[in-house]
Amino acid sequence: MSREFPALDAELRVWRDEGLRLPVWWRDDDAVEPTPALERLMALSAGHGAPLHLAVIPKPATERLADALQSAPLSRVLPHGWQHRNHAPADQKKAEFGAHRPLTDMLDEIAAGWQRIRDMFGERAVPLFTPPWNRISAEVIASLPGVGLRAVSTFGPRKGQFSAAGVLQVNTHVDPIAWHEGGGLVDTTRLDAQMASDLLQRRSGQSDNSEPYGLLTHHLVQDEATWDFTARVLELFSASDAAAWVSPIELPARIG
Ligand SMILES: [Zn+2]
Repeated sequence: MSREFPALDAELRVWRDEGLRLPVWWRDDDAVEPTPALERLMALSAGHGAPLHLAVIPKPATERLADALQSAPLSRVLPHGWQHRNHAPADQKKAEFGAHRPLTDMLDEIAAGWQRIRDMFGERAVPLFTPPWNRISAEVIASLPGVGLRAVSTFGPRKGQFSAAGVLQVNTHVDPIAWHEGGGLVDTTRLDAQMASDLLQRRSGQSDNSEPYGLLTHHLVQDEATWDFTARVLELFSASDAAAWVSPIELPARIG
C-alpha cells in the first residue's frame, strides 16, 4: 500500500503514532436505478466495511433502486437536487439551485425531493442535501431547515461547522475524476500529494478535522483506473488505525 500512496501512507502513520483520529466518509453521486456499476459500488462498500452514502436524484429515482439497496446494510441515501437540471445561464457554471430562480420554486422542488427520498428509502434517508454540481445559493442553504433538511454537502474544506443556522456543512474533499480533461483518473501522484496535504493541514490546525474527510465518486462514469483508485483508498482507510468511517450526521451505523 505504501508503494501506491507513499505520501498519504506516511502521513497516516504520523497520525497513528500521534494517536490522532481522522473521521472519513464516502459519497457517490447521481444514482437513479440499479446498474452493474451500482452493484460494483455496493460490493466495494461491503468488502471494505465502508458506509456508502449514495446521492440519489429524487425525481427520476426508481423503486428498483430502493429494492437493490435492501441488500446493502451499509448504504444510506442523500437527496441529490431534484432532477439534476441546470438552470444557470450559458455563461455561468452549472447549477440546479443557484440564485437563478425564485426561492419558493426551488424550495418546493427540494421539499418534494426530500419527501420522495423518505418515502422510497425510509430509514436509509439522511437529511443531508447534496446540490448537483456542488453549487447552491446561500439563500437556499439558509432555507433548508424549513423543509426538514439538517445539513448540506458540497466540495472542499468547509469554512465553518454550520453554513447557516441549523445547517451542518459536511463536504467531500477528494474527487479522482479528471473532469476538465473529459474524464478518466487524475494523476495518482497528484491525488496522493493532495490527500497527504489535506491531512497535514488538518493535523496542523489549518483546516477543521472535526469535518469528516470525504471521498467523492461517480459510479456511472468511472473508468477502470478510477475504480481501482476508489478500491485502494477504501482499503487504505479501512486498514488504517488512524482513520475511522463515520456518518456525516449522527445516525445508526447499520440498517438491516
Ligand atoms: Zn450530480
